Order: sequence, then structure tokens, then C-alpha cells
Amino acid sequence: MKEVIVSKFGGSSMADYEAMTRSAKIAINQNSNIVVVSAVYGVTNLLVELSKKSCDSEWNDIEPLLKEVRNKHERILEKLPSQNELKEKVNKHLEELNTLVKGIFLLKECSARTYDSLLSFGERLSSLIFAEVVKENTEKDTQFFDVRKVLITSDDFNKATPQIDIISKKCDQHLYDAKYGNVLFITQGFIGNSIEGHTTTLGRGGSDYSASLIAEGIGADILQIWTDVAGIATTDPRIVKEAKLIDEITYSEAAELATFGAKILHPTTLSPALRSNIKVFVGSSYEPEAKGTWIKTKVENAPLVRAMAKRTSQTLLTLSTPKMLDAHGFLFDIFKVFNDFKISVDSITTSEISVAVTIDNDVTHNKKFIDELSKLGKVKIENDLSLVSIIGNEINHTPNLARRIFSCLDNINVRMICLGASKHNFCFLVNEKQSDDAIRFLHKEFIS
Ligand code: ADP
Ligand code: ASP
Ligand code: MG
Repeated sequence: MKEVIVSKFGGSSMADYEAMTRSAKIAINQNSNIVVVSAVYGVTNLLVELSKKSCDSEWNDIEPLLKEVRNKHERILEKLPSQNELKEKVNKHLEELNTLVKGIFLLKECSARTYDSLLSFGERLSSLIFAEVVKENTEKDTQFFDVRKVLITSDDFNKATPQIDIISKKCDQHLYDAKYGNVLFITQGFIGNSIEGHTTTLGRGGSDYSASLIAEGIGADILQIWTDVAGIATTDPRIVKEAKLIDEITYSEAAELATFGAKILHPTTLSPALRSNIKVFVGSSYEPEAKGTWIKTKVENAPLVRAMAKRTSQTLLTLSTPKMLDAHGFLFDIFKVFNDFKISVDSITTSEISVAVTIDNDVTHNKKFIDELSKLGKVKIENDLSLVSIIGNEINHTPNLARRIFSCLDNINVRMICLGASKHNFCFLVNEKQSDDAIRFLHKEFIS
């Protein structure tokens, strides 16, 4: 029986008519069952800018952004041979977007729910156009599909939690033809629907996660992530040009890479795939014939150092109080506050009277959260740091590794170290401005 395939194409694979055509041909040649797409390259960033400017700028500053969103889509439409009906649909979406932005501008307020509605236009528009590009390139039956019928989430707008059981039932209900009916479905990444019926999003870069959830929902065999690099590399090729492509990598290593900042995969992409035993492929839509990377449970080669990544915009929050001396339950009190505010901690160290944790920079704007923590002790905040991590195997059982890491870092000051929790990860905190250098030094020492 044919393998069931879900293919996801990111923003750069949707950049213009040529990129869309290339991506459509890949989906057709691969015999994909469902294609999940991101917004046209740059559109989500424009929508984010619109959400801010609509609250604090003049209409004159807002209009050019709306025009840019329109132009990006119309430039693609112009190249499509059959476009009248589609043009009308796209225009209707753009008009709706204008009305929404006008509403935000008049009210000078953009709630989390409104923000998600605004951002959803990116994927809704790109998928509409891409569905037509696919149709132009195949005789096969194709169908545009609104993912909000199946991708049900919590109502935590901006970073909603998928409701896996409901998604699975809805996929059985709505995506039968994609799996068994030889119809190629085209749908949106990133967006979902709350149980009450409001549009939600899964967080920036969330289309990878959407694709994995849909793959799980329909019981797919393979999830393909098509992007602008020919697979997962030993580090971000934008930082180290000679980064090497990895042929195969385990779920655990790839998940650590994603969690610790490698933009190639959204951090939660691999959970559904791992849970449901779906093989994951990462490849380039610009170079589809290249080998790409396979993410699997077992791989032949398990090097000590596989890759390195950085997670930017980190804050080190230190909470100190003499009350911690000889006390128990103190960490419980601290993490209860994090839990109440749904704030996730990336790494942690403790001393006798202090606890230091890393969190995303923007969390420190949450005054209520800081006030609540301050009731437990003195809070100190250091912004603009980066968490640099080395991902590999047997990291916590290898003598001399720490010596090699810190010797190669030259005079970069290391603000905090985390080692021991995972055999796949060693991470440390440095000033943001020095993080690329840290990666270059490490890559030279362990890979190049
Ligand atoms: P898409 O729009 O297709 O989702 P992204 O920009 O989100 O693409 O992710 C692809 C980018 O991830 C690459 O262009 C690359 O700069 C970056 N990246 C970061 N770490 C890695 C890595 N280890 N291997 C490959 N690419 C990486
Ligand atoms: N378009 C969304 C973003 O730019 C989701 C994605 O591309 O994965 O964040
Ligand atoms: Mg991405």
C-alpha cells in the first residue's frame, strides 16, 4: 500500500510564483496526501507590524503595510493563468483584513484573540493561492481545506495548545478523502480553532507543528518539512557557512536542537511524530533532489557532538532570599508562580539562597508575574542573553568535554552552565552579542 505523506512548505517555499510552482511540483511528484503551507515569505512579519502600528501610529504609516501585503499576493496572482474567481476570493480576504486593521486602529487595542485573527490572514491567503498553483500543475483531484475544521486548540491565544483527541476525531471525519480517496488536500499551517470557534495560532514558526499534528491525526507514515536549506545542519548555516548537512539524526537530538533554538524546526514539531511513529524528512524545496535529513528512532552514527544551536532573547532571572537556607518547599513555591502564569523555564541552577532560571526576554514585561515572584525574595533580571547549546550523545558521561568547550571559547564570559539533566545537551548562557562567536568557536573545535 502507498505510504501516507504530509508535506509542509515554509514561507520561503511560498515566496513567489516560481517558489510556489516548485513546491507544487514537489508535492505532486512525492504523491503527497496533504500539503500544509505557511504564509507567503515576510507576510506574517508584516501582520505583526500592522498589529503594533495600528495601536500607536497614524493611518499614513499603516496604509503602506496593508499595500505591501496586497502586493505580495497580487504579484503571484498576476502570473496564474486562470485567476478571476481566485482573484475575487483573495480580494475578499484582503478587504476583510483592511476592515480588521481599521477596527484595531480605531479602538487602539489589539487583544490576543484579535492578534490571532489578524495573523491568520497570512496562511489563509497563501493556501488559497497555492491550491490554485497545484491545480495548474496536475490532473489529479485537489481540494482546498480550512484546517480550522480539524485543528482544535485551547483558547490560549498566540500560543494555543492543540486538543489531540478532538483533532484525531475531526481528522477521521474530514480528511478521509485525503488518506483514502486519492485527493490532494491543501491546507494552512500555524492556525487553529478554539473549542468556542475562535481562530487561534500555535506560536511563531508553528506550521511545522501543524503539519506534524495533521500527520498524526490522519495516521500518516511520513512527514516532510520542505524549507530553504537541504536538511538539518551541524549549526545554522547563516552563522557558520561551512556547517555540514546531517543525513540522519535521532528524534531526541533533533528535538533538543529545536527546543534550544534551531529555527529549522518549531520546538514541538517532533512530539506528535515521535508519539505516532511517523518518519520525518527535512529537505529543500529549492533542491528537492538533495539528500536531506531523516529523523528516526535509531541511526547508525551517534557522535559525541552532533550540532550546536542558540536560543536568543533570553533573560536570567535570579531570586534570592535567606529564607531558602535549610528550608524545604521553596522551589515548589517559586515554580507555582511560574505555573500560575504559564511561564516555561528553559534552564535552572540553584545555590544556598538563590535560584537562577532562564526565560524568554518578553516574560519580564509581565509586571504581575514579577510582583508575585518578588513576594518570595529579591528578584534580579539580566536581559539580552543567549543560551548556547551543544547537542550530541553521552554528553554527561564524557571526560574532558567541559575542558574542551571552555578552552575554545576564548574570553567569552559564561554567565550560567547547565549540564547533567540530559545526555544529549550541554548548554550555557552568554551575552547575546557574543553568541555567534561562541557557536563559531565550538563548531571549529568539534566539527570543522
Ligand atoms: P521555513 O520558512 O521553511 O519554516 P525557517 O526560516 O523557519 O524556514 O527555517 C529554516 C532556517 O533555519 C534556515 O534558513 C536556517 O537559517 C535556520 N537554521 C537554524 N539552525 C539550523 C540547522 N541546524 N540546520 C539547518 N538550518 C538551520
Ligand atoms: N507564518 C508563521 C510565522 O511566520 C508560521 C510559520 O511560518 O511556520 O511564524
Ligand atoms: Mg519555520
